[in-house]
Order: sequence, then structure tokens, then C-alpha cells
Amino acid sequence: MSPTSQIKDQFGRVHDYLRISLTERCNLRCFYCMPVEGIELSEKSHLMSHEEVIAIAKTFVEMGVKKIRLTGGEPLIKKNIEKIITELTQLPINLGITTNGILLDNYVELFKASGVKDVNISLDTLDKRKFEEITRRDYFDRVVNNINLYEANGFNVKINNVIIKGVNDNEITDFIEFTKDKNVAIRFIEFMPFDGNKWNNEKVITFNEILSVAEEKYGSENIIKLKSKKNGTAKNFQIKGYKGSFGVISTVSNPFCDSCNRIRLTANGRIKNCLFSSSETNLLTPLRNGEDIKPIIIDGIYHKKQVRGGMTSDKDFFDPEKNANNRTMIAIGG
Ligand code: SAM
Ligand code: SF4
Repeated sequence: MSPTSQIKDQFGRVHDYLRISLTERCNLRCFYCMPVEGIELSEKSHLMSHEEVIAIAKTFVEMGVKKIRLTGGEPLIKKNIEKIITELTQLPINLGITTNGILLDNYVELFKASGVKDVNISLDTLDKRKFEEITRRDYFDRVVNNINLYEANGFNVKINNVIIKGVNDNEITDFIEFTKDKNVAIRFIEFMPFDGNKWNNEKVITFNEILSVAEEKYGSENIIKLKSKKNGTAKNFQIKGYKGSFGVISTVSNPFCDSCNRIRLTANGRIKNCLFSSSETNLLTPLRNGEDIKPIIIDGIYHKKQVRGGMTSDKDFFDPEKNANNRTMIAIGG
């Protein structure tokens, strides 16, 4: 299938990576993602069915999308997830998934058979009790076992770790040590502001701070800087002699918007052209009405703002009036 058009924004950035949120629901309640009071879920009939997910994904692939990542909410609780994965892997794309890892043991064979290799698993702490505090659920052992299972089975495992002052910033080197004998990539993610997550800039541990902690323990001469991937979000490093690597996603202290190639599709079929954009483009209603959604996609992406949904300065980005004018993270799909 050759692309019939390229999806470009007004700044010439080509968008060939689609992140599809399959559900707004989750089997965890991470405080930085899901507000304590819960969220108002979309009506079921307003969410994409498995057939609609495939139809929209196919359209994006015809328009040049080469990589798709499934996310949520928790993507593995979506009804028909097996069918979605099997059908998406028939398309000429690289398919990955971001998951909290709880249900992964059920899917090793499916992922192997369908060629899903890139599995990002969220884990913010190596302390079972703290895991319960952060996620409000008791699944620590299952997640850690599944990380080990996927590493042992040769998947490309990345571990997403939202690093927050006073919560888990004392575990930075424990996580780096985790890469000593395991071929996994730890990705420290700077804590980002979304509606209802009680963010403030004081709680952010920045790229520079994380690197200083690593340098203090290992010495800068023992930290190898790895080559950045095209459109990659993380700056990556490896401790000499260690099997795995670690990196930092510095959306807050040093955004990487210049090379952004990402489009987000929410579980109710809206495009968000940026994680921080307050505007959305509805694809599901036109699809249901039998309209051609390609021009709508082109227009929605064209108007993407240059930096962080238009919050160009840190003053704007740190302003709760502006940064909370968005969905909760769980309803966007990270
Ligand atoms: N449930 C899956 C999971 O946890 O991996 C997929 C959805 S989750 C929204 C996707 C990613 O977003 C996770 O790695 C999560 O840690 C990250 N995330 C959620 N809220 C965040 C925040 N406020 N700042 C930074 N990352 C966040
Ligand atoms: Fe669920 Fe993932 Fe959000 Fe945690 S980060 S509440 S696992 S969607």
C-alpha cells in the first residue's frame, strides 16, 4: 500500500506515527493519571468499536502512517483486543503497545505470532507497598513477573517510570541498577500536567537532575550517551558493561516538539494533534456518516501548534488555567 498523501502540519512536520487509545478504562488508578474521584466515562456507543479502530487505522496507513502504538486507559482490557492486534499486524506498520503490564502473561503467544515486539510497560517503583500507594491496587508482583517474562522472551521492553519529587525520586539509581543484567530500557518521564492530576512544577524532577544523580553514582566517564533515534522522545544512556539502558523523556524541561511526528486518536474517535492540545477533531461521527475522513485528518493535523499545544513559554505551560484546559491523561491515551 503506497501512501496517497502525507500528513503534514503547517510547520512541515510529517506525521507518520499514530497512537490509538483503545479505552478510557483501567485496572489501575495511578494518581498522576486518573483523578481520585474517577472520570466521567464516554457512553459506550460513543467509543470506537473494533471494526472502527481498524477502519480508521487503515485510513491513516494509506496516508503514510508507518508506526502504530496501542494505549489507553489500559489497552489489554479492551474487548476484542486479540482481533485488533491480529488485524492491525496485517497492515504494513510496526505495531507496539504501552501497558501497565498486569495482563501481559496472557498475550505472549499472540504477540509472538503476530510480530508485536515493542512492549512498553509502566512501573514507577520497585517497592511493593509504594506501588499500591501510587496505583491504588495490589498488582506489583504480577507486573514485575511480566516484565521478566517479556524480557526473557526477547521482546523490546521499555519500562516507563513517571518520576515525581518525594514519591519515587529516591529510586533513580535502583532503576538504573535494574538494567545491569536485564536487556530493558528504563525511561524516566518528567511528570506532566493534565486535568485533575494536582501537578505543580515543584514536583517535577528534570532531565538534568536525573542525569546528575546518575553521574554522582557512576561517574560521568562510565555513562555512555547512546545515539538518538529519529523522532525519538528520550535521550538515552547506558552504564558501561550494563545490558540495558536508561533514558529521560523531558517534555517539561526540554520539549522535543521540533521533531514531533505523533498523532493521537482517543477512544471516542477524536484526533488530538498534540498531547497538550485543547482542541480535538472528531473522526468517528463522520466515519459513521459514511464521509471521507482523509480531508478531516489533513485539516486537523495542519493546524497543530508549534510547541506543546500552543503553550510556548514555561509561564503558560506552568499555569493551571492553561495546562488543565485539556482531558485527564487517562482519557487522552499516553
Ligand atoms: N495503562 C497503560 C500504561 O500505564 O502504560 C497505558 C496508558 S498510560 C496513560 C501511558 C503512559 O502515560 C504511562 O507510561 C504513564 O506512566 C504515562 N503517564 C500518565 N500520566 C502521566 C503524567 N501526568 N506525566 C507523565 N506521564 C504520564
Ligand atoms: Fe491506568 Fe496507565 Fe493511567 Fe496508570 S498510567 S491509571 S495504568 S492508564
